[in-house]
Amino acid sequence: LIQELVDLDKKHFIHPTSPIKQQQEQGAALIFTEGKGVYLYDVNGDCFIDAMSSLWNVNVGHGRKELGKAAMDQMNKLAFNSCFSTFSNEPAIRLSAKLAQIAPPGLSATFFTSGGSESNDTAYKLVRHYWILKGKPSKKKIISRTKSYHGVAMGATSATGLKPFRDFTNSLAPDFYHVDNFSSQALRELIEAEGSHTIAAFVAEPVQGAGGVHIAPENYFKEVREICNEFEILFITDEVITGFGRTGKYFGIEHYGVTPDVMCFAKGVSSGYLPLGGIILSEKIHQDLIELSTGTLLHGYTYSGHATACAVGLKNIEIIENENLIENARVMGQEMLTGFQWLQNNLGIVGDVRGLGLMGAIEIVKDQVTQERFESPLSPLIVVEAAKRGVICRAIVFDNQDTLVFAPPLIIDKTEIEKMMSILYDSILTIEKQQEKT
Ligand code: PLP
Repeated sequence: LIQELVDLDKKHFIHPTSPIKQQQEQGAALIFTEGKGVYLYDVNGDCFIDAMSSLWNVNVGHGRKELGKAAMDQMNKLAFNSCFSTFSNEPAIRLSAKLAQIAPPGLSATFFTSGGSESNDTAYKLVRHYWILKGKPSKKKIISRTKSYHGVAMGATSATGLKPFRDFTNSLAPDFYHVDNFSSQALRELIEAEGSHTIAAFVAEPVQGAGGVHIAPENYFKEVREICNEFEILFITDEVITGFGRTGKYFGIEHYGVTPDVMCFAKGVSSGYLPLGGIILSEKIHQDLIELSTGTLLHGYTYSGHATACAVGLKNIEIIENENLIENARVMGQEMLTGFQWLQNNLGIVGDVRGLGLMGAIEIVKDQVTQERFESPLSPLIVVEAAKRGVICRAIVFDNQDTLVFAPPLIIDKTEIEKMMSILYDSILTIEKQQEKT
């Protein structure tokens, strides 16, 4: 059976974001069959701590029967209906109301999508439409940051700061600009150079995920908010990873005490049990859209407001709240960071470590004092060693980085974190020793 699956996988399944040649030569590395809590199981019966919550998204952990039941109940009643025009359904209505309740104050109305890339493209299109309605059609440029990741739809790819994603294709959407990662001064300078009358919005992840878990300095987002106010530019936060408790608060931007005009979400809203995402607009923008609109809001996906996905989203948020998972993310996040510091103190190649809630990173360095890196990154080798021992994590090598990133499910407990650290210790030590020999 396993060989048959490997052969079929090679022949017919184009994996997303994958080393396509390696997949052909080596076949699928892991074929998963089951998930329970923080654990994944594969076809061989081997067990792994899913220290990435798969793709930063399985916030409530694997194997939640309640979510299966919520989906089944809704499917058996009404799996799907169009929400175009004036049609609606109860799960989408109730989820949009719930999101208004939990989002930062002032954010009140949701447009649903099926994932983060669609959410970003929706945000860029709607803010541009907003400026058209406001009589300022020249405001159309979108500014984002150099280490950002916003997805792979055309707008989202163009906004993504990580160059390899943009270089993957040979024609991008126009009117996207990038500024230095954490410099509010650079943002101001770009706005002044381009003219604020040409700029629609600035978009940022509260904590950069795919770029290597980069946490903004304390005042950065306050300064960004002030600059956006000063120049009449909308501020969009991409909470696709940082939403729904990941950082120890409901939404990542809450750490910085500011409120965006538009917030993109996906992933943790349904913990990946069904595809779901969206954007939440401030009440002011929503009201302006209503007042100024003269025709149809010509933007909508077939699955916007999908009844079953929204029913799962509602149940998922209920679990997050009933089980106090946001507080658990905060407390276990501190445990994880303490563990990283322990690795740093006990291994020779662990450099900077950082984390916010259950989003964390370990830098791999040649020299712990100067933080000098190895010529070729070691983190991908460590990921392989960790997987052999039962931990799934991820290596980030963009931009000359050599970083391991982590985002375990928000249900993780102290014993599981300790197990994760012990496996990481053995895995990093193995590569450290190999390195000493060469
Ligand atoms: N925005 C951020 C911050 C993300 O991390 C991601 C995915 O990792 C996306 C957008 C794209 O989301 P999706 O893969 O659901 O389209």
